[in-house]
Amino acid sequence: MKTVFVRQERCVGCRHCEVACAIEHSKGKGLLSTIQEETKSYPRIFVEVIDNYLKFPNRCRHCDPAPCMQVCPTGSLYRDEQTGSVLIDYLKCIGCAVCAMACPFGIIQFQKIQKYEMNREVNAKCDNCIGRLEEGRIPACAEACKTSALEFGEANDLIRIARTDFTSRMITSRGSETEVPVIPENIRAFQKVMEKLASLS
Ligand code: SF4
Ligand code: SF4
Repeated sequence: MKTVFVRQERCVGCRHCEVACAIEHSKGKGLLSTIQEETKSYPRIFVEVIDNYLKFPNRCRHCDPAPCMQVCPTGSLYRDEQTGSVLIDYLKCIGCAVCAMACPFGIIQFQKIQKYEMNREVNAKCDNCIGRLEEGRIPACAEACKTSALEFGEANDLIRIARTDFTSRMITSRGSETEVPVIPENIRAFQKVMEKLASLS
């Protein structure tokens, strides 16, 4: 299955992924139009920042089996056979939030869906940018991320790369003070700037 793999150590906390996600799920699909739309489009990926400016871009893993799918009383959540993505039929959702309680990653949140001019909030989870996938494009968050903290590809291939990368760095840094994993200099510099900005607020 193809997925977006998170390389947390490369995240600089710029939140471009959140902005790209909100735009992708808006009506106009433009930055200015998204800001002006009456029913707001909110991101479905969340860059959480904790002490010492540690960052983690948290998004749906499209688990299989998916706890949210298993507990939904209305059968609103389903799996797309082509891409393996866990999707939602907004019109069936009754907003009971059982799915949010079952999600082990806490990524489900509720919004009004502009496309259906809804006056109630329903599960607005990550849909893996299914429309883009069908066009042969990659999810908006992965495209927006310029540090490759979000990489789209076959899950096992990405895991293998991350694992061998980490292992080789562990071996070569043994006995030295080298950071594991080593973060590219340009990303580290950007992270320092963001840390400085965060400390000013
Ligand atoms: S765009 Fe990439 S670097 Fe920026 S916050 Fe999102 S995951 Fe982190
Ligand atoms: S909030 Fe909607 S998707 Fe979630 S469990 Fe209830 S009906 Fe299903």
